[in-house]
Amino acid sequence: MKPIVVNNPLISHKLTLLRDKNTGTKEFRELINEVSMFVCYEALKEAKLKKIKVETPLTKTDGYMMDENYFAFIPILRAGIGMVEGLIQILPNAKIGHIGLYRNEDTLEPVKYYYKVPSGIKKREVFLLDPMLATGGSAVAAIDMLKKEGAKDIRFLCILAAPEGIKRVQKEHPDVKIYTASIDSHLNESGYIVPGLGDAGDRIFGTK
Ligand code: URA
Repeated sequence: MKPIVVNNPLISHKLTLLRDKNTGTKEFRELINEVSMFVCYEALKEAKLKKIKVETPLTKTDGYMMDENYFAFIPILRAGIGMVEGLIQILPNAKIGHIGLYRNEDTLEPVKYYYKVPSGIKKREVFLLDPMLATGGSAVAAIDMLKKEGAKDIRFLCILAAPEGIKRVQKEHPDVKIYTASIDSHLNESGYIVPGLGDAGDRIFGTK
């Protein structure tokens, strides 16, 4: 499945501000939330709607609504947390889970240290969140865990993706659609996305 790149002059504008090393923590966090909203908007294009009756000040008509409760937003800790606020502004009743992973320095494999997802994950539409799809290791590990619980409908939402990460997710989980605001050039030898925006977690939380 081809990744969906959300393309719009406003996103290009906001992404440029995100990439700028002089953008401070407050603005960076706001921009991550704003761009996340646009990526989420795109990921909702195939959302199911229920037909209902609505009464306008003039007449009765048909309306169409999503079941907000049906969605589960699951950030991969820690940078994924930066995307949650933007998404719950759009769908305030979505449920939120968290997946914490660290990289084992010997095996370089992601190891789970926290896992809590909303009940009934089998029937939910899961939006897995991580602003940076770099090697794809964390994304694949998180998707493995969610599928083990029975999740069937998973979309991966990020801000920047590297071709290497996209390839890995597509290979191991071809059913998971990737939504991103940009596909960047490559990963450098330290695993950073180039041109990228640096360490998303550090820039969201101001830890550097
Ligand atoms: N994680 C980040 O925060 N930045 C990158 O460039 C790659 C992974």
